[in-house]
Amino acid sequence: MKTLFVCSESDVRETRVAVIPSDAQKLSKIGWAVKIESGAGVKAGFSDEDYKNAGAEIVGADFVKEADFIVAVRKPSEEKVKTFKRGAFYLSLLDPFNEKSLIKAFADAGITAASFEMIPRSTIAQKMDVLSSQANLAGYVGVLKSANTLKKILPMMMTPAGTISPLKFFIVGVGVAGLQAIATAKRLGARVEAYDTRPVVEEQVKSLGAKFVKIDVGETGQTEQGYAKALTEEQLELQRKGMAKVCAQSDVIITTAKLFGRKAPRIISAEMVSGMKSGSVIVDMAAGSGGNVEGSKPDEIVITPNGVTIIGDTCLEASVPATASQMYSANVYNYIAHFSPEGEFVQNFDDQIMKMSVVAHNGEITDDRFKQ
Ligand code: NAD
Repeated sequence: MKTLFVCSESDVRETRVAVIPSDAQKLSKIGWAVKIESGAGVKAGFSDEDYKNAGAEIVGADFVKEADFIVAVRKPSEEKVKTFKRGAFYLSLLDPFNEKSLIKAFADAGITAASFEMIPRSTIAQKMDVLSSQANLAGYVGVLKSANTLKKILPMMMTPAGTISPLKFFIVGVGVAGLQAIATAKRLGARVEAYDTRPVVEEQVKSLGAKFVKIDVGETGQTEQGYAKALTEEQLELQRKGMAKVCAQSDVIITTAKLFGRKAPRIISAEMVSGMKSGSVIVDMAAGSGGNVEGSKPDEIVITPNGVTIIGDTCLEASVPATASQMYSANVYNYIAHFSPEGEFVQNFDDQIMKMSVVAHNGEITDDRFKQ
């Protein structure tokens, strides 16, 4: 029986665990001997006892040297990769565009490394799409964090003491996170406007009861994978001009605009921030990849001289670790189950999902974009 090892996370800030007990049980049922590092699930609310009851074995960190399949949420250190068993299969988020040296370390160590970021955005791969499952939660948490930071309530209230107006939210970037942010802010009673460079999202925005802000920036588009194409500097300037008024009137701005594998576009300038009301809040969900907002800092809260709070949390989903782990773990299970049609895990490179997700195999870096 092959062994599957669930690692503790090397980043101490990480709260999620890659496999939750119920999925450990499902993996055992399809033939894996599941081993989990002691304490790996604690921050997400799952004890060693929970894993034991699900049929998994609790082991020490050293088990990584023996495992056939290793799974985690975040990338390991290069040092750790050197300790993996040659020929092992490794799966997690790997941030491959920024971690070329790590990808080389996998190849040098003879590990087959699969990166969740590289899974194609096809219908069949949706159930293993970690970027979507986590972005969805990030959109939800982003709204809650802004609500907790505001000094006001979100919904309209008509009371004998007077009428309170609803707050205005502006969501920039309406992908998975943006749609969830719109839905969450609407549920809390805010008035919501949204903008995206992909015109196809207008209908989705309207169907959630929000208003789509129209800005003519000329030709925009999306890649085959559904990602937005980068705007030129002139188009971004048109965009900033077009949204300055909406920004000035907004109590909360949530920016989610990322460009896959590239630096995020700078959408909100310092001037636009200085035009906002004191007490307003911005959540920059792209703070970890360059930032959509001038002045935002990764994993910091910045308060500007005019009293605007800019939240640069780079992993909002880690604030709801039980749910985030549940979704991540389902993505892991679905990946493994997809490649185990007869029970045995098969590395099938004729399958686009395997072909695109694997970044190192047989001592080689398999994707030219990650060669140094
Ligand atoms: P993302 O996180 O890469 O980007 C977030 C949003 O920001 C996108 O909607 C993008 O268009 C937008 N954006 C980029 N530059 C912008 C700018 N300058 N101004 C305003 N908005 C800007 O995107 P995502 O959430 O991962 O989703 C991207 C697309 O992929 C969507 O069409 C989504 O529906 C699609 N998708 C498909 C699948 C699937 O088919 N399995 C899965 C997930 C996502």
